[in-house]
Amino acid sequence: PTSDGNIGAWVADWAQKVLDEEPALTDLDRRAGDGDFGTNMVAALEQLDLTEMRNTYSASTTFDAISQAYLGHAGGTSGALFGIWFRHFFRVAREGTLDLATIAAAARAGLDNITALGGARPGDKTMVDAIAPAVDALEEGVRLDGVRADVLQRTSEAARAGAESTEVMVASRGRASYVGEAARGVVDPGALVIAWFFECAVGH
Ligand code: ADP
Ligand code: MG
Ligand code: MG
Repeated sequence: PTSDGNIGAWVADWAQKVLDEEPALTDLDRRAGDGDFGTNMVAALEQLDLTEMRNTYSASTTFDAISQAYLGHAGGTSGALFGIWFRHFFRVAREGTLDLATIAAAARAGLDNITALGGARPGDKTMVDAIAPAVDALEEGVRLDGVRADVLQRTSEAARAGAESTEVMVASRGRASYVGEAARGVVDPGALVIAWFFECAVGH
């Protein structure tokens, strides 16, 4: 283990979880969208050698590979936005250690880029509903100089609560907005996989 924590294991754990849950993710996007979210995730993640990532990849190699997989192979809104999200983690990992401060900086830059491109705000029933509270929790943890494991735990809880908050929302961005009231009662799949991303970080 390096001072980065095992970032390859974190991202590989997350990717495996998303692959395992593909049918459930597809179902969510079918009920509040066009049904391709799971397919878009798999198209990116099947490009990766998760065993190699877990055992040998540096943080920058990990985020370079996953961002390129999304940008080059996944369709849909999520392919572009996840590609951009992971690209910001690559940028900070390339510069040095992925400690809490640089994870927070990457997540903030990713959030800003996603909102600049997609225009979503918290409450619009998108991945932003999970990312924004996670960024707040990370920045709070950095400000208070918290212990890495504790801050990541609080961050994952914030992201999870944000994802669950999408269930009662109707969407004002993305394809889920086309189905209006029918989206109520369906958790946003993009927000859910962001919650898993931070849940998988705990312990790494
Ligand atoms: P598409 O909507 O093009 O079919 P996907 O199904 O792959 O794309 O991705 C849908 C996910 O993308 C949603 O669950 C939501 O989290 C996210 N999303 C959609 N529109 C936006 C947006 N404007 N800003 C941020 N995230 C968005
Ligand atoms: Mg879709
Ligand atoms: Mg689509």
